[in-house]
Amino acid sequence: FQRLRRGLARSSSALTEGISSIFTKRKLDQSMLDELEDILLQADLGLDTASSITERLGSGRFDKEISPEEVRAVLAEEVEKVLAPVARPLDLNRGIRPHVVLMVGVNGTGKTTTIGKLASRLAADGKTVMLAAGDTFRAAAVEQLKIWGSRTGADVVARDAGADAAGLAFDAMQAARDKNVDVLLIDTAGRLQNKAELMAELEKVIRVIRKVDPTAPHDVLLTLDATTGQNAMNQVEIFGKVAGVTGLVMTKLDGTARGGILVAIAAKHGLPVHFIGVGEGIDDLEPFSARDFAEAIAG
Ligand code: GDP
Repeated sequence: FQRLRRGLARSSSALTEGISSIFTKRKLDQSMLDELEDILLQADLGLDTASSITERLGSGRFDKEISPEEVRAVLAEEVEKVLAPVARPLDLNRGIRPHVVLMVGVNGTGKTTTIGKLASRLAADGKTVMLAAGDTFRAAAVEQLKIWGSRTGADVVARDAGADAAGLAFDAMQAARDKNVDVLLIDTAGRLQNKAELMAELEKVIRVIRKVDPTAPHDVLLTLDATTGQNAMNQVEIFGKVAGVTGLVMTKLDGTARGGILVAIAAKHGLPVHFIGVGEGIDDLEPFSARDFAEAIAG
């Protein structure tokens, strides 16, 4: 929690400083609530959450003093209310073997790193893990995944850069069956520059996975980079349509001023948030907790 609090310090300090500058032993009036709403919107929390906070503070309270602490407490409570329903652990104990997890997301959002961190967690839980270097477009992504494989003891299925991603996914599905591994984590490409191509490739990968196991992929995780703010919202929509996203991992929550976007995404899409990334290291992936996040962001 301390790490999350440090990580979200920039997100929370804009909020807490703003709140302290508005609620200065004055009697509450509409202009103060309007200013507060602006600050909440600037923090990317989204209109619904911003409105519910200002409405709650305003009801029956005009002409009374409200302290910054009280405003922050209301902020934390309302944020937790939005996040609690989406804070759901990734369940890899559903009796499926191999449990196939497809990792999707725009390049640079942290897909490959998250796969490595996840592999490490699963290995620590005693699970056997296989990684598929499905971002065949970038040689660096394939190399990076191999490094994560050797760090975590996971087998890696890879082909040379430029190979067909669907063919690679097919190989990986069969290898995972042959080796009877518990979990197969499949990386994918995320070139959003060419949406039609990306869509076609992801659809093909999913089709091929289903040829081997019609019930797979069992989870489709989307990585979102917290530092990109509103872009993350668009990515949920695009990848939701293309790949049938079942859950989210928000990365780079260490040191961003835009962590509030997670609240807006939760309010709008209601997709489960399984993990958050709080650094580049192997242990910097944490299960998502609504309360911790709410308290960290409210300062
Ligand atoms: P991909 O293109 O989606 O596979 O993204 P990568 O996994 O290659 O990550 C892109 C960059 O973001 C790398 O430099 C990672 O070390 C970094 N990164 C990933 N997750 C986090 C995180 O939670 N916090 C920070 N600070 N950096 C991260």
